[in-house]
Amino acid sequence: MPFDPAYAKQRLESLKQSLPQRCTWCKREKPLKKKSRLCDSCDSVRREIDKLQKQGASPLERELKIAEYMKELCIHWGERFEDTLDGVSDCSSLEHYFRDVAAKFAGDWHMHFKKEYMLEDLLTPEQVAVIEYLFWEPLSEDASRNRRRVATARFDKEHFTDSG
Ligand SMILES: [Zn+2]
Repeated sequence: MPFDPAYAKQRLESLKQSLPQRCTWCKREKPLKKKSRLCDSCDSVRREIDKLQKQGASPLERELKIAEYMKELCIHWGERFEDTLDGVSDCSSLEHYFRDVAAKFAGDWHMHFKKEYMLEDLLTPEQVAVIEYLFWEPLSEDASRNRRRVATARFDKEHFTDSG
């Protein structure tokens, strides 16, 4: 098949149209809870926050803080997706995805440092956006699975290391 630069544009357009069917927080394409319009995974975070608040947890309490950080992570990944669709992303944000992958699989966050210039010469903005989306799909799944660990590490870092 010959190279068709319009294809990336069409692909982005159909992703934009899928937005209303996606989870309100993480924007992943999953079955949604009717009431909250959240996927199962985000909805479990929402329910955890609700439950802790109903139990009268102070906003500073560890469990509640960690749950709030998890919510932030859900929303953060949804925002990354929306940035891609809004054309806010460029090769430096695409480089970030490459670096996430290198960090994850090679334990080296610097491996793809400054690759944005190479990417700029290779790709149109629409192609950058589609490739970002293709990275976002598995990485947002991974983030959803590791959300509790990441949120807990953030809490511990903020509460046990700034005294020094
Ligand atoms: Zn979700």
